[in-house]
Amino acid sequence: LGKDDAVLKTSGLEKAFGGLVATDDVSFEVERGTITGMIGPNGAGKSTLFNLVSGFYENDAGRVMVNGEDVTDLEPYERARKGLVRTFQTPRRLEGMSVREAMLVGPGPQAGESIFSLFFSADEVTREERANIKQARELLERFEIAHLIDQPSTELSGGQLKLVELARAFTTNPDILLLDEPVAGVNPTLANDIKRFIRELNEEGQTFLIIEHDMPFIMDLADPIIVLDQGKVLMEGTPEEVQTDERVIEAYLGG
Ligand code: ADP
Ligand code: MG
Repeated sequence: LGKDDAVLKTSGLEKAFGGLVATDDVSFEVERGTITGMIGPNGAGKSTLFNLVSGFYENDAGRVMVNGEDVTDLEPYERARKGLVRTFQTPRRLEGMSVREAMLVGPGPQAGESIFSLFFSADEVTREERANIKQARELLERFEIAHLIDQPSTELSGGQLKLVELARAFTTNPDILLLDEPVAGVNPTLANDIKRFIRELNEEGQTFLIIEHDMPFIMDLADPIIVLDQGKVLMEGTPEEVQTDERVIEAYLGG
């Protein structure tokens, strides 16, 4: 540990649910400019860790630093303003909103809901809103879903919802984006598109921390990869190192 330029750093993070220790003294760093992967068997504590890092769960102990600043006591939307944004394993349905409205609200409760943007009508847009609409359109184009802009979110497929969730996350220009299983339940064609988008954004400097169950996907995309098991960091290494590590193989076989 001790990376040159860590966007995200945790030290000694702990979380227990009753007697179950879901996060056990977890310290790791995500270096700026990387696509860092996070894997581990079911129940290893990956989603819990994301919730601690993004502020959706309160930790029992430990600290979270973003760009060298301690954000441990901040709310999720405040962490988003500091540059840390996350998506959810199961995208929320964005009840009643069209894709355009969802984009203008931003990544949801995390970034702080703007009630105003929920109710704006097309003929009362300010200059700022025009800028937001332009940005929303550009992001939708980038993720190749611009044709869905007037679609009610209730009519989107699971994969389209994942893309809207991704596009929304970028409305706040995050320094680090946390993705929880971005291709879970997504068809192989769309999964490949998502991989390409992530890669392109990374080439432009975007840092990612990605939890993913799909091994070929994450091994192809991420480096380094952090392995969690039973709430602890088991190891960190290149995809090659992780795939050949006895402890990792054992953790997966042991269930
Ligand atoms: P993963 O994402 O790696 O599959 P999770 O972080 O979802 O693992 O879960 C880690 C452990 O914590 C599991 O044993 C799970 O049952 C438990 N857990 C997660 N969230 C909660 C919660 N809100 N309440 C109680 N137990 C939880
Ligand atoms: Mg999970």
